[in-house]
Amino acid sequence: MKMNKVLSKLGIVQVNEGAATGAKWIKAKGEKLESYSPVDGKLIAAVNTVTRENYDEVIAQAQTAFAEWRMWPAPKRGEVVRQVGEALRKYKEPLGRLVSYEMGKSLQEGYGEVQEMIDICDFAVGLSRQLYGLTMHSERPQHRMYEQWHPLGVVGIISAFNFPVAVWSWNSMLAFVCGNTCVWKPSEKTPISGIACQNIIAEVLKANNVPEGVCGLIIGGRETGEWMSNDSRVPLVSATGSTRMGKAVGAAVAARLGRSLLELGGNNAIIVSESADLNIALRAAIFGAVGTAGQRCTTTRRLIIHENVYEQFKKKLVAAYKQLVIGDPLDEQSHVGPLIDQDAVAAYAHAIAEVKKAGGKTIVAGGILTGEGYESGCYVKPAIFEVQNEWPIVQHETFAPILYITKYTALTDAIAMQNNVPQGLSSAIMTLNMREAELFLSATGSDCGIANVNIGTSGAEIGGAFGGEKETGGGRERGSDSWKAYRRRQTNTINYSDQLPLAQGIKFSV
Ligand code: NAD
Repeated sequence: MKMNKVLSKLGIVQVNEGAATGAKWIKAKGEKLESYSPVDGKLIAAVNTVTRENYDEVIAQAQTAFAEWRMWPAPKRGEVVRQVGEALRKYKEPLGRLVSYEMGKSLQEGYGEVQEMIDICDFAVGLSRQLYGLTMHSERPQHRMYEQWHPLGVVGIISAFNFPVAVWSWNSMLAFVCGNTCVWKPSEKTPISGIACQNIIAEVLKANNVPEGVCGLIIGGRETGEWMSNDSRVPLVSATGSTRMGKAVGAAVAARLGRSLLELGGNNAIIVSESADLNIALRAAIFGAVGTAGQRCTTTRRLIIHENVYEQFKKKLVAAYKQLVIGDPLDEQSHVGPLIDQDAVAAYAHAIAEVKKAGGKTIVAGGILTGEGYESGCYVKPAIFEVQNEWPIVQHETFAPILYITKYTALTDAIAMQNNVPQGLSSAIMTLNMREAELFLSATGSDCGIANVNIGTSGAEIGGAFGGEKETGGGRERGSDSWKAYRRRQTNTINYSDQLPLAQGIKFSV
């Protein structure tokens, strides 16, 4: 399908409005933001960003809508989410294609991202009938005690460029069934994908007479995110992006005693044991390291390989890297697409210079690609370096396809190395040895939010809670009981006796 047709199917025009309260668009009066594709450097479309006044209007409308939306029975809200899932099925092809073109990930990954949105809708529909609280036994006679979970209000969602649409749905679909309203600020690097989602959901909102304000959108940059972080009308800010951004958002939200849900950078490692199935390990390592051109929070950045299989595995890696096709991500033959922009290319070049300065040995050389097919200037070669884990550049998340490899002798040392970085998102061990696997998963094993055995670091399913520790921010989204982040807990004690006994047996009479 030609990109013009894709855009028209998704309701994208040449210059779009950058603010919506739901089904209605607001005239955005901020600067114009142009979105260029890293695939071919061409302009996709432009969008008017929001002013502070536009922002205030969207938040105020979200507050108004909350008063009504929280009164809808949760399964009825779930029915709206079910229809959002249906609409996403209908638009999976053009939306997946736009995501691929605007962000630069492969077409398969673009479709996969929309599939994740559909999956979270399905999950949230079921959840809308399972928002359970616990009951407890009271220490007082004829008393009943239980807890229930109420919605919070307006949930602010700040998302990163590398998952232009899925992160919004992970947050908003759970937040909606929980009775919240949402305002989304997509990345300024991928605004058009955000507008497309708003167009898709608008049809469903209208058809179900959902109060205007339940699902808002604001297009803007860092400053717009800062308005949200500092706004006490937004009780929860869910922010996905760099650790630098998360520290700023976390501090601003904490200063007003609001809540934040932070999903930040990773520095993920795979331990390749001498007991590994090396073919599985190889496939996992390569998909993890070069998939999405190394621009996933869960990208495999480090391989910690047992000395007895080190040389053999290195050879396999080098041979596999020779097969990689770098090019247009919309072409199904390509394995590696572009980086998001020229700043990302500069960060890639800087990291390579730093690793060489530190004494890193080149195993597969990198480089910036030029010439036919690479006109956007965003295509780079995946590279591999032999390093020491403690070097500052290895400790840092460079959002590019650079893989660091290092050797170990004892598994406890490999685990210590895997943990010895500031981030704590995803981790994996490749082993067929049960003792090694269990040690890796034990309390003395991986310190990450995600720890896998014989699966790489990237590509998590929506059914589990997703997020990480340390500088990854501590947030959890998607499956398991992540929905609790979007609600407030209330403990209720009911006295149906004709006395007023006090807790802890305290006597008080007047
Ligand atoms: P980024 O931090 O540059 O921007 C992310 C978002 O935050 C954007 O919408 C941006 O406008 C906004 N923002 C930036 N500074 C802000 C501030 N001070 N206050 C409020 N908002 C602000 O990140 P990016 O380059 O778009 O994305 C890449 C990063 O995101 C990587 O570090 C990656 O690991 C991380 N990421 C993490 C997860 C996860 O689930 N842990 C998922 C995807 C991406």
